[in-house]
Amino acid sequence: MKNKLFNFLKSAVFVTFISTIMLFCTACSAKKPTPLAEFNLQNNSGAAMIKYVERFVEISPRNSGTINAGKAGQWLSREIKKCGLKPQADSWIEQTPNGKMAFCNIFADYPGETEKTIIIGCHYDTKAGIGPTFQGANDGGSTVGVMLELMRQMVEKKVITKHTIRFAFFDGEECLGDSYSANNGLHGSTRMAHTYFTTAKDILDHVIIIDMVGDKDLVLELPRNVTPKLAKQAMLAAMENKDAARVSLATTYCIDDHWPFVERGFSAIDLIDYTYGSTPTGRDYWHTLEDTVDKLSPESLEKTGILVIDILKLID
Ligand SMILES: [Zn+2]
Repeated sequence: MKNKLFNFLKSAVFVTFISTIMLFCTACSAKKPTPLAEFNLQNNSGAAMIKYVERFVEISPRNSGTINAGKAGQWLSREIKKCGLKPQADSWIEQTPNGKMAFCNIFADYPGETEKTIIIGCHYDTKAGIGPTFQGANDGGSTVGVMLELMRQMVEKKVITKHTIRFAFFDGEECLGDSYSANNGLHGSTRMAHTYFTTAKDILDHVIIIDMVGDKDLVLELPRNVTPKLAKQAMLAAMENKDAARVSLATTYCIDDHWPFVERGFSAIDLIDYTYGSTPTGRDYWHTLEDTVDKLSPESLEKTGILVIDILKLID
């Protein structure tokens, strides 16, 4: 009996010892950092991205200066925190054609080995005046999903980057009415570009803006008014990886959140799919009540995420 008890105790101690070793090893492997060159999105990341979009557009519309815009900003801050980064909010009031309006940029810095920075940015506001049920699922929502999941996986895998990566969610991209002007549209990106230009010009190396990336037949275009060298890197990244989103060169200019950075001499690109509609060349879902989550493709979101990572790998 004594022997049996001794053997039982011996095996119990052995099992506990092995379990502790296994737990320790799991903890070790979970903590192991991933070099950027080895970092790839998990399978089915598109499903996780679209879940973010579905939850985000429950707050709709998100027109700048409205209560819903405030709620959207708070939601983004909560999600950034859940991803493991510290959310930051920059609020200000600015003159617009409709008088003074409040805006708020939400952002988070993923620490790199240096303070040199690459911004990955999108806008989270919706175009005003479309209607009370306007979701802006693609135009404003799709990129939020891509960026949050990308951020979450980078934190989880402890990806090592030379650059600090700033995930920026801009307010006030959309202009009131039809035309952009100095005090109408691009409010959030102008604010951040101005801050870098006046206080930390040498820190900001590149800006990658993504916009409207959820279309089922996704082809991201690079407008003419982007930084050619960075555009070349984006084309290269797209060509080298068959799983990444396709990129083509647009024949036209585009006023989007990259522009305030380009205007101030920073290296910036915009990856956008203008054609978003019921036909491959149509735009009938854009800025209409038709811009709903069911029109989005998880694969397109995932491919965009892959492309952004591939560009990062080339420029970091
Ligand atoms: Zn828009």
